[in-house]
Amino acid sequence: LEKSLSVSEYLNHHGIKPSLHRIKIYEYLKTRDIHPTVDEIYQDMVHDIPTLSKTTVYNTLRLFVDKKIASMITIEEHEARYDADTHIHGHFKCKVCDKIYDFDLDTNFANTDSHTLNHFQIDEKHLYYKGVCKHCLHGSMKT
Ligand SMILES: [Zn+2]
Ligand SMILES: [Zn+2]
Repeated sequence: LEKSLSVSEYLNHHGIKPSLHRIKIYEYLKTRDIHPTVDEIYQDMVHDIPTLSKTTVYNTLRLFVDKKIASMITIEEHEARYDADTHIHGHFKCKVCDKIYDFDLDTNFANTDSHTLNHFQIDEKHLYYKGVCKHCLHGSMKT
């Protein structure tokens, strides 16, 4: 159902006033699976949208996370990355190429909670793996 909505309708639907900057930032995030940082989004977009500031990007992403249409990935504490795919999935970070890969989780992770957390309210679930991706392992990314 939500797929048929335009981005501005989608933002409205989630209580976000669809300004041009917000629409563009959401489109950027939604059409890329690179899990960009604020800096990367800003650097990529500022040529097309000179009125954009880094603060706007940061505030917009915070709003998206607040309204649960994006999530913040903090595999490294000094580096927040953003993801518009809000389905529960895991993230694998390659320590060689720094890429973050999505991976599917089986429904057990999504549905089963530890008894320790009975009667707790769970707002977010994250599963982070770190290692070396197959491309780096096999040397095909090296120049
Ligand atoms: Zn890699
Ligand atoms: Zn992801």
